[in-house]
Amino acid sequence: MKKRLFEKVEKVFLDKVTKRYGATIAVDKVSLEIEGGELFVLIGPSGSGKTTTLKMINRMIEPDEGYIFINGEDVRKFDVVLLRRNMGYVIQNIGLFPHMKVKDNISLLMKLEGYDEQYIEKRVKELLELVDLPPKHFMDRYPYQLSGGQQQRVGLARALALDPPLLLMDEPFGALDPILRKQLQEEFEKIKWRLGKTIVFVTHDVDEAFRLGDRIGIMNDGKIIQVGEPDELLFSPKNEFVEKLIGADRKYRYFDKLKVSDIMNREIEKYIFDLHKLGKNDIISLMEEKGVEFGIIVDKGVFQGIVYLKDLYLWEEKALPLIRNTITASPRDSLQSVIYEMKRSKARIIPVIEDGSPIGILLPDEILFRLI
Ligand code: ADP
Repeated sequence: MKKRLFEKVEKVFLDKVTKRYGATIAVDKVSLEIEGGELFVLIGPSGSGKTTTLKMINRMIEPDEGYIFINGEDVRKFDVVLLRRNMGYVIQNIGLFPHMKVKDNISLLMKLEGYDEQYIEKRVKELLELVDLPPKHFMDRYPYQLSGGQQQRVGLARALALDPPLLLMDEPFGALDPILRKQLQEEFEKIKWRLGKTIVFVTHDVDEAFRLGDRIGIMNDGKIIQVGEPDELLFSPKNEFVEKLIGADRKYRYFDKLKVSDIMNREIEKYIFDLHKLGKNDIISLMEEKGVEFGIIVDKGVFQGIVYLKDLYLWEEKALPLIRNTITASPRDSLQSVIYEMKRSKARIIPVIEDGSPIGILLPDEILFRLI
């Protein structure tokens, strides 16, 4: 792109944005912060305001109230044509020009920007490779000579032609049959890293949102209901609407992807006792005071082992009846493997250790409670 409004997106910030159509409030005081480099999904039922929100980012629709900032600059400050060339835009029925070959569809904007033929040819080939359409087979075809999925890939290549730092995608795979849709999602999941772009992605498909989204914003009736990473939405849905939208069975389907950090209890302060500061009797009275039955023993913050209050009562010696060889987990371990280990060893308390220090615990009851 000859003239860039921004090299890179640091942040897209929607500040209480509202859009009305007569008595309908399509978007109702939506505030959102989209971070540079993330794929942010907007999801919600049909008519919840997703497309309107997306279109306000590139000013295809102007809000009635509120502001939209990119890297702190109000988008209204920018020339609208320039703004749109800085954002790729991919929609459902991609809208390729039927009388133009694939290469001409992709290169249209580059021609308008005045790039030379040689550069354009090279770039078209590069983009077709990226979306997995070998250039020599596809460059000279017309859209009607392509399948729906192939047309959609050309649409993506076209949106990427000027290498825009921000990509807006509105149900890009919505018109495809389920198998093709899944295939394109998988491919897109792979290339999204290579693209290294900030992407705002609209869908009504929860599977798609969970597969692709770094973070997800859930909309209903023009409002943002909850924003979070997939795990947060799964395990701490804000209300029944979110819970229903996500679906109860998703947790189980998601189980094999969960890590210890997704589900561990981080509130462990009450269990931690530092040998450096406390003796056996201090620990007993503190445990009684706090009503805990076990303690995670550290020495200057470094994990030493666990101790049970009932053992402490019976223990005559000065040193603690410390269980040092207890099973521990790393926050990055898969939950599945740790649960297997818990079952095998009959361990009931699994301290989660990072860089030598406890940062969480896994307790069987809590795991069950959070999963159900
Ligand atoms: P979504 O993308 O979630 O399906 P939209 O943003 O397209 O939702 O629409 C939000 C609401 O605004 C809907 O009730 C829709 O009917 C209404 N709406 C959208 N565009 C227009 C328009 N041009 N004129 C009147 N109403 C509209």
